Amino acid sequence: MRTLDKLAGLVCVWLTACSGQQNIPANSTRVADPRKETTLPISPMLERTAATNKVEKSESEWRRVLAPEQYRVLRQKGTEKPFTGQYWRHHEQGRYCCAGCGQELFVSETKFDSGCGWPSFFAPSVRSAIATREDRSYGMIRTEVLCSRCGGHLGHVFNDGPPPTGLRYCINSVALRFEPRPAASPAAGTKKTDPAQSP
Ligand SMILES: [Zn+2]
Repeated sequence: MRTLDKLAGLVCVWLTACSGQQNIPANSTRVADPRKETTLPISPMLERTAATNKVEKSESEWRRVLAPEQYRVLRQKGTEKPFTGQYWRHHEQGRYCCAGCGQELFVSETKFDSGCGWPSFFAPSVRSAIATREDRSYGMIRTEVLCSRCGGHLGHVFNDGPPPTGLRYCINSVALRFEPRPAASPAAGTKKTDPAQSP
């Protein structure tokens, strides 16, 4: 038993000595961790994208991404020849988006046959999708219609349209990109009658 006590005492002294040696360098580890000051960088490009929904490009960028006729109409306020565009006699169900930025501008339910040779609508999809501006070019006073997101020239609006608005949005086909509406699935078409609405 005594031998064991002596061994235990020796081990204890040895451990204390070892820990004592380690305490010396340990005193020098009180320096603050510099990594705590690190902050994540924030991309200025992401902030700008989140702050505005507008699409802004230089004229050289627009010229690169648009076909020549699209550029002439959208960016240089040109007009396509009547009865030549892709959509003046187009009757599919769907929506018409801006060829410049993709924003939805008109839907097929508001399209009507005006006989003028350009696609005509009596209302935009939502009022905020378009902007208007007085146009005094060619000796006339007209109201120009532009895409509210990219500022692209779309056409003009006149007061000789059908009800319910009495307006005719006369739009260049080349300024539009049509997206057909997907066919309704059978499940979506079997809408049950609401008992509360029945007589
Ligand atoms: Zn646009």
